[in-house]
Order: sequence, then structure tokens, then C-alpha cells
Amino acid sequence: MGIPILMYHEVDSRDAVLERYTVSARRFREQMLYLRDHGYRTISLEDYRRQAASSEPIEKQIIVTFDDNHISHFSICAPILSELNLRATFFVVSSFLDTAADLLTREHLREMKQGGLSIESHSHTHRFLDDLDAAELDEELATSRRALEDCIGSEVRYLSCPGGRYNRRVLDTAPAVGYYGVCTSVPGMNHTAGGRWPKALNRFLISATTSLETFAKIASGERNFVRREVLRDRAKTAAKGLLGNQLYHALWQRYRKEM
Ligand SMILES: [Zn+2]
Repeated sequence: MGIPILMYHEVDSRDAVLERYTVSARRFREQMLYLRDHGYRTISLEDYRRQAASSEPIEKQIIVTFDDNHISHFSICAPILSELNLRATFFVVSSFLDTAADLLTREHLREMKQGGLSIESHSHTHRFLDDLDAAELDEELATSRRALEDCIGSEVRYLSCPGGRYNRRVLDTAPAVGYYGVCTSVPGMNHTAGGRWPKALNRFLISATTSLETFAKIASGERNFVRREVLRDRAKTAAKGLLGNQLYHALWQRYRKEM
């Protein structure tokens, strides 16, 4: 069966047509209510790793994650999660802390942590990890862990890849500098058959246009839906391989603007 990991970015209080990566607060609340009312347990990545190690059956569980430090994680998401008694994980870019009014501060992280939310790493500077050489990658991942641990006073053991970019070297370096798991942006359920812990964890993007019907399919891991999403992502990756990273990125930016 496996477990889905959701990936959110910014949440916006306006109930309007928003950027693709921005979900309205109304929809976010509706999605979280869905989880609560349908008996899903929202767990942390560490809970998941422990369960996988003990081969406990994993049913009706889900991991909710956020990338990119947006202030809405503190001002909108944390209160909704707390009201509904749900848990979530926030992947934070350590060098972005205390740098802009619309981004999280160190104080926000400490408050969120105290409220039972998990703080993990989204790298130190948000550079694409597959562009870095071995020394730069080491530095990027280790610095982020250290900075976040200093801030919240507890362990940081999970990483999400900026821009979803990763390669073999990222998957090998992360455990070497103390990470237990790496979250990607590849859609798919996560499986831990026989206690095997996956090196790269899949995540489903929740976007501005994700309907509640689609959300329900993701939460339950509906087989046909998941298969379609996985195939679509593979086709996209293949196109990227043919076009090259830079050209693909340029086309994607244009496509996003036209949406
Ligand atoms: Zn990011």
C-alpha cells in the first residue's frame, strides 16, 4: 500500500486564482479537514522511518510537508494544523531565515517546533544540488543541518531537494553528513517492504488547482491515479533529458506564465 507524502509551498489567504505552487487557505483547510474527518494520521518522517524499521503495518497514514520558508507556514498553516490536531514537516532553507518580511524567522521555527511541528532542511542556499561538486554539496547539506539544529535545539535528519533536483551523489552524500532521508518531487507512494527504507522519498505536489477529489485519490494512494501520475512524471523527465536542464527550465517558466 505505502504512504503518500504531500508537498506544499506557499498558502495564501486570498480565495482567488493563484500561482501554480500557491494553495488558497480555504483549500488547504478543506484538505486538512478531509484528512482529519477520514481518519488519517499525520506522522513525521522519523515516525515513518521507525515504523518501517519495525515492519509495523502502515495504514491510513500520511506525511504533510512544506518547502521554501514562506511566512504563511507560520501565520496560516500552523494555526490550522493546531486547530485540527494534525502534524506536518517544514523544510527550511537555512540561509533565508530572518532575511525578508514574507519569509520565516528563527523565532517562528522555535515556536512551530514547540507546537509539535517538525523542522527539517531544504538545503542552506537553495542551489540545485545536482549542479554542485562534491565539496560544495557536502558544505551545503552539512551547514544547513548545523544551522537549523542550532536554531531549534534538536536534531535535523531529513532533507528535501531544491527544485526537486537530485542525483546519485546527493543520495550518497546526504546519509554521509547525517541525514536519514531525502525527499524528492517525484510523485508516487513510498514503500518499505521488509523494513527496507527508500533512499529517495517520493512526494505529491499539491498545487493551486488540486481538487478535493484528486486530493482524496492521493491520500488513499488510488492505484490508477498514482500510476498515471508516475508515467506523466517519467515522460517529463525524459523530455528534460532530451532538451537539457537549461532549455527545459526556460520552457517550463514560459509555460507556467501562460497558465
Ligand atoms: Zn524549494
